[in-house]
Amino acid sequence: MQFYSTNNKDLRVSFQEAVFNSLPQDKGLYMPEEIPQLAPYFLKNIQQYSFQEIAFQIANAIIGKDIPEADLKKLINDAINFDAPLKFLSADTAVLELFHGPSYAFKDFGARFMSRVMGYFSKQGDKLLDVLVATSGDTGGAVALGFLGVEGTRVTILYPKGKVSKVQEEQLTTNGRNIRAIEIDGTFDDCQALVKQAFNDPELNKELRLTSANSINIARLIPQTFYYFWAYAQLKAQGINEVVFTVPSGNFGNIGAGLLAYRMGLPVEHFVAGTNVNDTVPRFLNSGKYEPKSSVQTLANAMDVGNPSNWVRIQDLFHNNLEELKSVVTSYTYNDEETVNGMKELYDNYKYVACPHTAIAYLASEAYRNEHPGEYASVFLSTAHPCKFSEAIDSEVFKDVKLPEGAEKLQGKPKLAEAMNVDYATFKEYLIKNN
Ligand SMILES: *Cc1c(COP(=O)(O)O)cnc(C)c1O
Repeated sequence: MQFYSTNNKDLRVSFQEAVFNSLPQDKGLYMPEEIPQLAPYFLKNIQQYSFQEIAFQIANAIIGKDIPEADLKKLINDAINFDAPLKFLSADTAVLELFHGPSYAFKDFGARFMSRVMGYFSKQGDKLLDVLVATSGDTGGAVALGFLGVEGTRVTILYPKGKVSKVQEEQLTTNGRNIRAIEIDGTFDDCQALVKQAFNDPELNKELRLTSANSINIARLIPQTFYYFWAYAQLKAQGINEVVFTVPSGNFGNIGAGLLAYRMGLPVEHFVAGTNVNDTVPRFLNSGKYEPKSSVQTLANAMDVGNPSNWVRIQDLFHNNLEELKSVVTSYTYNDEETVNGMKELYDNYKYVACPHTAIAYLASEAYRNEHPGEYASVFLSTAHPCKFSEAIDSEVFKDVKLPEGAEKLQGKPKLAEAMNVDYATFKEYLIKNN
């Protein structure tokens, strides 16, 4: 399969190039040149396949010959080695838990798959692959743990001092080996600006083989389609054939993957995007005008995005046709007070402790059901384990949360982080000196 740029459909690159470039030079995003259609037999009998078998079928359809089947199977069995269970809260409402990977957030799917694809395409004798990533919390942990020990790679994570949660910081700073953390005395935007400047620095690019691990990489998008199919398989096993997915959305990569799955033939009745007050997409769906804004800080901070970077992919999947898009996607937006109430409602009604992002998805799925009653299962996606956002959860609710074993083990481990001011010269010197 070849991949085009959303800015230029005549430009074609191989899967390997798309992965290492991350972004085409024209600043579009890579998309597969055709949307592969899954065999009706497969979809009809999907409940007979395991999660890994499903993942293989999907990845093989998208990637094609660039990774031979036997290698791809091995890669997937290694990357997707944890479950995405569907848990029913009531007869028609279920939560798809995507936080059973090493960093307890759904970003593990993307990061683990991408790290192994990059490792697979890196040849003996290649220069060390330097992955630079700026994080507001969750991306860094998933990338750190995804790349930990992957040969031929080194990861440098920039995170804003005092602005990530305790569990997130422990995941970023206790790894050692091929993972380095830099604690920036600034904001997430400062971290991102430093990384961007490094990518645009010709001198640095001569010295180091830099690559990005951000959410627009096609190798992060592909594995996020797997769990939509797996959720559908789990529903079918219970005799349920109709589903509406609700996705808590920031950069719109997660829901973008769901929409790609839909275009590949996954039968979904509708998609709902839940956002915090960073509501560029809900406003667009209402007005038809795409007007990005600076991001505002909220409790669901992994979704504090004013200009969602994956949005152009969704536009591309729907041929830039607003009416076509609106027939498949609805969106709702919630402020912090409503988010807190959503967490409380989940706890009071179902004894379910959710992170703020997940609570937004729950609220949006309920809102959609109220407006569109019907015989379908509402599945909302849980994107992170509540322990990663303990500061945002009412202590009365949080007391029921058991820290996962892996998170407990990180407590008290020495913090390995380089403290740095927002200064590009210092950052560059660090990269060169420590090469
Ligand atoms: C990254 C993240 C999101 C947002 O996902 P997008 O793909 O950017 O829309 C939601 N919840 C959590 C916990 C996240 O880490």
